[in-house]
Amino acid sequence: MQAKPKILVIGSANMDMVIQSDHFPVPGETIIGGEFSLVPGGKGANQAVAAARLGGDVCFITRLGNDIFGSQNLLNYQKEGIDTSHIQQIPNVPSGVALITVDKSGENTIILAPGANSQLSPYDIIASQQKFEEADLILLQLEVPIETVCAAAELAKKLDKKVVLNPAPALGLPDSLYENLFLVTPNETEAEYLTGIAVKDEKSAKKAARYFLEKGVKEIIITLGAKGAYLYTSDFKGILPTVKVQTKDTTAAGDTFNGGLAVALGNSLPLKDAVKFAMKAATLSVQRMGAQTSIPFLHELPMT
Ligand code: ATP
Repeated sequence: MQAKPKILVIGSANMDMVIQSDHFPVPGETIIGGEFSLVPGGKGANQAVAAARLGGDVCFITRLGNDIFGSQNLLNYQKEGIDTSHIQQIPNVPSGVALITVDKSGENTIILAPGANSQLSPYDIIASQQKFEEADLILLQLEVPIETVCAAAELAKKLDKKVVLNPAPALGLPDSLYENLFLVTPNETEAEYLTGIAVKDEKSAKKAARYFLEKGVKEIIITLGAKGAYLYTSDFKGILPTVKVQTKDTTAAGDTFNGGLAVALGNSLPLKDAVKFAMKAATLSVQRMGAQTSIPFLHELPMT
């Protein structure tokens, strides 16, 4: 891919505070854990970073607290070359924080305090219309208020822009949102939550995809983890398998996939080729530890 498509990402920004521990504390218990790490996260931020590293000219719209985490995250996005001109640090509101414990089997518990993320409003969307006009593609997730997601999709549709929604985490969605979407990219769990259809194989994936189609979404991709992705798109219907690799940590595989997909689609690649590109990037990410630390750069992707 040669061009640098303009990708507008609207979504959450968090600071992840991670403690490794042999086991989880029970209520009322205090335990001594192991290593602590402070890692920039949030689905919006991860996908913005992925799109930037994979060749996009990215503008990220989010809300941060006017605190140390907010300032650190802002600096981090700037280092990634992301346009932060529409990011605000809000006084007297904490930045979004995720408290994560990981036990020795790799299982985790997470509590998320959305903080400033919950202040991203439909008004902020209207105030950013120019960024929508400039964008080749708009990428959304569900870690900011649903009315903001709906306002963004509505404005994009009005401006005849393509919207990709990664419907994560799983939340019920209003029907009016679906009609404004070009593409949805749930994983199996989110697809089941939204459609009521358990995605176990190609047949059930097709049934779930048709649910989204009937709601008005044009193209559907259901990611299947190590199995690849199911496409119900205008150019391909079926499973695109991914290559088998030694998996270290799947954190942010979905975010890498969505960031890469956005860049490829912003570059007008056909959907099947765009998914192949996104899967190449996600395959690399699962072989590395962490969230943003695992997201590859364009030059690291294999040529074939
Ligand atoms: P996340 O772990 O970030 O929440 P997700 O649940 O949103 O991810 P998945 O369906 O697990 O999304 O994965 C997205 C893409 O990442 C897959 O379509 C695939 O290309 C790649 N992927 C995920 N897990 C693996 C794996 N174990 N081996 C190879 N590729 C993988």
